[in-house]
Amino acid sequence: MNAPRVAATRPRVLIVGAGLGGCVLAHELADTHDVTVVEFGRNISDMQSRLVDIGIPARLDLHVGSGLGGTTSLWHNALIEPSPAIFDASWPFPKSELAVAYEKAYRLLGGVERSAVETAGETLRREYRAAGLAAPEMPIMFIPGTRRNLWETLDLRSHVRLVRGEVIGIAVGSTNRVDHLIVRSEDGQDQMLDADIFVLAAGGLGTPAILQTMAATAALPALRHAGCYYEDHPMAFVGLVKLRAPLYKFWNYRAPGLPGTLRMPLAISRDGIQISFQLRPAALLLNERKREQTASVLTKLRNNPFNLANYFRLLRHPDDVLDILSFRFGIRLPTRHYSLLMVAEQPGTADRAITATIDATSGQRQISRNWKLSAAYLATLRSAIGAFIASNGKTVISSQMFAHWEDSVDTAAHHSGTARMSDSPDTGVCDRDARVHGMANLFVADGSLIPASGIANTGLTIAALAVRLADHIKQLSNG
Ligand SMILES: Cc1cc2nc3c(=O)[nH]c(=O)nc-3n(C[C@H](O)[C@H](O)[C@H](O)COP(=O)(O)OP(=O)(O)OC[C@H]3O[C@@H](n4cnc5c(N)ncnc54)[C@H](O)[C@@H]3O)c2cc1C
Repeated sequence: MNAPRVAATRPRVLIVGAGLGGCVLAHELADTHDVTVVEFGRNISDMQSRLVDIGIPARLDLHVGSGLGGTTSLWHNALIEPSPAIFDASWPFPKSELAVAYEKAYRLLGGVERSAVETAGETLRREYRAAGLAAPEMPIMFIPGTRRNLWETLDLRSHVRLVRGEVIGIAVGSTNRVDHLIVRSEDGQDQMLDADIFVLAAGGLGTPAILQTMAATAALPALRHAGCYYEDHPMAFVGLVKLRAPLYKFWNYRAPGLPGTLRMPLAISRDGIQISFQLRPAALLLNERKREQTASVLTKLRNNPFNLANYFRLLRHPDDVLDILSFRFGIRLPTRHYSLLMVAEQPGTADRAITATIDATSGQRQISRNWKLSAAYLATLRSAIGAFIASNGKTVISSQMFAHWEDSVDTAAHHSGTARMSDSPDTGVCDRDARVHGMANLFVADGSLIPASGIANTGLTIAALAVRLADHIKQLSNG
């Protein structure tokens, strides 16, 4: 494969998408490269308005963001790493190769040192064990006190060139090099943008759609996987437990000097799938039926703080009130009752789940998402809940699984896997350097690159991959 041809002056990098991956990459390259970012959204909902759910509809209000910052305008900013075993099973390289990049990612996304999170996490792990709660894996989740929209916090406005428009095509030259991108401006005009290096960071839904469009004119075997191997993390409140131990003391745990709080999901494996459980303090002001019907309103509240109706809704969600008190003010009210929040791995399959389409009536470009949970998969989750409760039997005084939790399974909005890395174009879209197999100067830097994430939210890993790609691009540019 030819290396990218780069100019003698600062090499020009064109990044598609001002979301999490795009912002981190732009930040890392801004000192050494001439960086242009193309962003399609003006409003936070522009991306989602293009989505058609043909499978299970997501229940979240907005489950993908748009505009400067992309989905980091909506996210909770919880940072967590997949376990090394997930890398060994599904990645083209071991987790140790991302160690330095994870360190930087923690600083950029959380303003914290990875080692400080690990030290505090070890203390929390000991507290959980002392309380009689344990699981084969107890990963650390760090939630910064203030969430970051990365376009703003990395101050990209003053460091990169911004082009407003939607990338609708990729023009490939004779030697498998991208010549230019076709960008549709807001006034409907098309323009060509050229560069030395092109990076797709349009997200786990946007990037495969662009690659599918490209496949119509570029015969690359790897592109047939674009939109396949889709992963998300199904999540649901699945039941209630009563505990002997005062676990509420450690919910939204604060360690001295840490600019945020920690949580500790407890993860088990069932049929080769990772399933995690968070024990969230429950106020028990609701009867069981009502509790089963009410999901948390915290996402709605956080993303619509000026909508007064959400504060009235909060009154019907006493568990959310407990959560706010502990997260914001460190106040934890005693309780023996906990609701069980399940977040599960959903390994991708070779079926195409994300497909670029054109609406027949309006002619508008759309993306269809076919999210499915098979009966066998749900049965695995069901048996995992039982196994988790049984394995913590000494601490659990009583437990009750909700009868209809399957109806309330929600997307965690971790759209990933749809342009996954793999050493062979027979099994993935990108190689281990995040370069589209068969292309000289086309890379990917967003959730679509992740081959597997276990039960981990994907944001921290997207950032680590963008940091790693920036290093790779710098090496290429240095010859
Ligand atoms: C409510 C909510 C809470 C979340 N909480 C967490 C959390 O706590 N922790 C965590 O790790 N993750 C969380 N996530 C998920 C996380 O925000 C995303 O995984 C992450 O932002 C994805 O980054 P990305 O770079 O893949 O894409 P995005 O951040 O989605 O950015 C893609 C950008 O590309 C633009 N784009 C798309 N197509 C085009 C095109 N053709 N031309 C030009 N631009 C285009 C889009 O408008 C968008 O701005 C949450 C998500 C939601 C919705």
